[in-house]
Amino acid sequence: MSESREPEHCVAFDVGGTSIRGGCYDPATQSITASAHRHTPNLHAHAGASADELQAKLFVELEEMARELAGGKLPQLVGLAFPGPIDPAGNVLSVPTIFGRQVGPPRPIGRQLSKRWPETQVVLMNDVTAAGYYHLNAPDESFCITTVSSGIGNKVFIHGRPMVGPGGRGGEIGHIVVDPAPDALPCDCGGRGHLGGIASGRGTLAALKRAVAEDPAGFENSNLAVNASGAEQITNEAIVAAFHANDAWVTRHVAGVTAYLARVLASIHTAIGIERFVMIGGFALALGEGYRSLLAQLCDDSCWNLGQDWDKMIELGTTGSHAALIGAGRAAYDNWKQPS
Ligand SMILES: [Zn+2]
Repeated sequence: MSESREPEHCVAFDVGGTSIRGGCYDPATQSITASAHRHTPNLHAHAGASADELQAKLFVELEEMARELAGGKLPQLVGLAFPGPIDPAGNVLSVPTIFGRQVGPPRPIGRQLSKRWPETQVVLMNDVTAAGYYHLNAPDESFCITTVSSGIGNKVFIHGRPMVGPGGRGGEIGHIVVDPAPDALPCDCGGRGHLGGIASGRGTLAALKRAVAEDPAGFENSNLAVNASGAEQITNEAIVAAFHANDAWVTRHVAGVTAYLARVLASIHTAIGIERFVMIGGFALALGEGYRSLLAQLCDDSCWNLGQDWDKMIELGTTGSHAALIGAGRAAYDNWKQPS
């Protein structure tokens, strides 16, 4: 589709495992002018529902929200960010947080929505891709965005476009095996020893709990022991607080798991020379500047040095629905102007 005119309405969506956020995107100011949110019809809210039934409910919610945001009619342009990998044909490959692990074959959500809304251009993207569009400093920039929350995901943008490959499998560094031990921590995809199960918030919590058993004296002397009498009482919030208090024992264990992530980021740098790495996600941003500088040091330790300055290359980004909606709106508008 070739378009030279402006879309009458551009609505952006950020579909998460628990809530759907929507907003009117204004291309002129690159901002969200009105917003709405609803609960995602997921497998927890509708126990026993099939993935097809959940998807049908999701489409109804999206359509109602789109009309609400676009003054009663369907918008001409929709940017839809989804929490799972998507291939270039608009097939959603896996969305465990909404449909569960058993999703079966790829779901052609992009094509189904276009059929349902024939007058609307639907631009479907992964949610980390949407966050990447938000963090683009220039339309042709090349950089890597990585989210560290309960899991880990990334997208590498080359000349302003996310590179996911012909099969849409790129940007999933969370599912690289970094610990081949048969009893390595499980990942939310069902695999074991994956980066996302080890260096994420969930993985860090598991590592600290294991460390209590292996080094009880270290735990007793740590800041964590102030509010937790044993491994089972440790929380991510307590880890973040101890990390901010510069607790040496906690920092050492956070560094232990973060080193796996650093090696993967160093692989991206050494493979294709990316020089800007933006970190987002609840866990990374809660740990904050200390995490950024620790990760930069660990990346520096993970590859040779041809003059690159990891301290300048690793930065903290912005997370949250606002960033995701603006990113989804930007991506949709970019596609409207320059259809791929
Ligand atoms: Zn995995």
